[in-house]
Amino acid sequence: MRCPYCACGDTQVKDSRPTEENAAIRRRRVCPDCGGRFTTFERVQLRELMVVKRSGRKVPFDRDKLSKSVGIALRKRPAGEERMDRMISGIARQLESSGESEIPSSTIGEMVMEALRGLDPVAYVRFASVYRDFREVADFEDVLGEIARQGDEPVSEPSETAKQSDVVPLPSAKSR
Ligand SMILES: [Zn+2]
Repeated sequence: MRCPYCACGDTQVKDSRPTEENAAIRRRRVCPDCGGRFTTFERVQLRELMVVKRSGRKVPFDRDKLSKSVGIALRKRPAGEERMDRMISGIARQLESSGESEIPSSTIGEMVMEALRGLDPVAYVRFASVYRDFREVADFEDVLGEIARQGDEPVSEPSETAKQSDVVPLPSAKSR
């Protein structure tokens, strides 16, 4: 594995252990030339996936790239790296098992939104603002409305109580 700092071609594995409930192997590496330390992950890849961008350009599915953009949305949020990794793995596995070898980038974006909505509403809004390219305050209001609706979602038919909860102000609005 090439050193990401000095591009030396031969780095050493210092430590290797299972992570993400044995779905991945985490290796700590050190570069003998510059002393740089970094971590690599070994994961199962069931099939080669291509992502079709909005422009029509096709690029190989890059887990690290996806991880980075989700990581930005989750920055300083309580979800933690482990849960984020599991979420990314879940999405990658769903894509790999979908039977499609070419996936529109919009599909991946929607899957991330779906996963973030359950994991962390703040990260969800952050991701949505970038992914959907928010330009106006109204765009944020739309997404905040989606979260509110999600929270109120009745299990079966909408009942009288579910309707009432729509007009109850959020606790945070009261406490201020
Ligand atoms: Zn190096």
